[in-house]
Amino acid sequence: MLGLMMTYPLNISQILEHANLIHGDKHVYTLLPSGKLYTYTYAELYHRVNQLANAMTALGICRGDRVATYASNTYQHLELYCAVPLMGAVVHPLNVRLSPNQLSKIVNEADDKLIIVDGQFSEQFAKLLQEIDCKHIVHFNNNSKLTFNDNSIQYEQFITEADSEYGFEIQDENSAMALCYTSGTDGKPKGVLYTHRSMCLHTLAANQADVFGITESDVVMPVVPMFHAMGWGLPYAAMFAGADIVLHGNNIHRIVDLIAETGVTVAAGVPTVWARLYPALQKRKREISSLHRLIVGGEPMPSTLIEGYEKELGIEVRHAWGMTEMSPTGTFCTLRKTHQKLPDTEKWNIKAMQGRPIPGVQIRIVDENSAELPWDGKTIGELQVRSPWTACSYYKTKSSTEHFTKDGWLRTGDLATINKEGYMHIVDRAKAIIRSGGESISPNAIQRGLLTHPQVVEAAVIGVADEKWGERPIAVVVISSDTVENTSEVLKQHLANEFPKFWIPDRFIIVDEIPKTGVEKIDKNAIIKMIATEFNISSKG
Ligand code: ADP
Repeated sequence: MLGLMMTYPLNISQILEHANLIHGDKHVYTLLPSGKLYTYTYAELYHRVNQLANAMTALGICRGDRVATYASNTYQHLELYCAVPLMGAVVHPLNVRLSPNQLSKIVNEADDKLIIVDGQFSEQFAKLLQEIDCKHIVHFNNNSKLTFNDNSIQYEQFITEADSEYGFEIQDENSAMALCYTSGTDGKPKGVLYTHRSMCLHTLAANQADVFGITESDVVMPVVPMFHAMGWGLPYAAMFAGADIVLHGNNIHRIVDLIAETGVTVAAGVPTVWARLYPALQKRKREISSLHRLIVGGEPMPSTLIEGYEKELGIEVRHAWGMTEMSPTGTFCTLRKTHQKLPDTEKWNIKAMQGRPIPGVQIRIVDENSAELPWDGKTIGELQVRSPWTACSYYKTKSSTEHFTKDGWLRTGDLATINKEGYMHIVDRAKAIIRSGGESISPNAIQRGLLTHPQVVEAAVIGVADEKWGERPIAVVVISSDTVENTSEVLKQHLANEFPKFWIPDRFIIVDEIPKTGVEKIDKNAIIKMIATEFNISSKG
């Protein structure tokens, strides 16, 4: 028997309509390349989004066409997040930090019909343009006088004459609305094609109180780039909630100023960014007192950093785990009522876990024979997930059991434990596990151990080839300015309290900075190259 409810297709334009009608006076702030803070309202955004959709239609962009963005977090990027899906086309944010060689493969595979370029990146884009075939280029912030090609046009000129009413509405909620490639941390980036339905449901789920928990009174700043897993869904979530949104325009050095000037209440980014910003935030503690919540993910957030933010700065840390394939939110770590009475250190240890599945997401851990493993907080297995906002295959790739199970779950490539309360803890990526003399060593666990030493600022552990053991761990660390004498011995001693002897890295290499990927994750491939050239050490692979 069928129910008697409206068949009202989920559609990204509902987010835009709601933001305009109910929250039209709320603000979008963008830090311009000139350093000035530009602001307008959701009502103005709405007007311009309709103009943009009409301008793209006039250019010949059709339903299903891919429209790429090559931009940082700016109001124009937000307009494209709305206008492209509104007209039934597919918005495709490109990671500006990938090399032209990596990006050209992505653009050619996506077959982007139009690329909108943030002129801050003109020079690097000009290099990419030599390797791709894209007919239409629209650019903004372009002071470099680079014209790109004969068809390129300036953004304001492109939309200014266009009509501000756009009539079309998507009927099939399963139509594609965005394409985002994984960051490629441990392999080739893979395309994930979101639907209107998946993104709307993700937005609703992400805005629950124990997830992002964004309300109309919030001022939200995604420090995470809008090209990293759709800015973690924050642009849509903030608009739907009617919160003000603050876009940093790629000026990471001004983040603390921006928090102080606009009264940011919720900010989101990877742990390395929060580790780097911590001293500046601490110095200006009073000015940034509006900031009450950090959403952190992409990599493990060390408990020492959680402690710093919560204890010293009074900012709640919500540690999340997700994947581009999951739009990206999978699990979120908030404390249960029963945890409130625990000593603070125990609370921070819980918060360093990746948390419980958000409502709508199912998780399980399995062994190598696909048998489900117990939720006892100890047994490690491959993490598998499913939800209405999880991909069921990759763009232009034949579905394979390497990534998706026969019974419809995504194989995440992560190894995890789950405890009886449903809290999931990522042990490591399966590919990162070091096999030494037949035993497994978790680089993540050693990294966490190193970061509890007060002088260690950053740490990465990788496996290198070893004649006797097959593979051995070595550590690459950044030490704070108060230098420690005989660092290797001190760190070995420090780890010996927690880990078996064979887990202790054979060597500690002190560096000024640990290489990062385009989305600020630790770049193990770059570390492998660095130690091969500078120290003549080769990795197993
Ligand atoms: P890539 O796999 O190329 O880095 P994503 O940016 O989509 O692409 O990253 C998803 C992966 O990031 C997860 O499978 C997991 O390995 C890692 N990850 C995400 N959040 C966390 C977290 N809080 N702790 C540990 N690892 C995380």
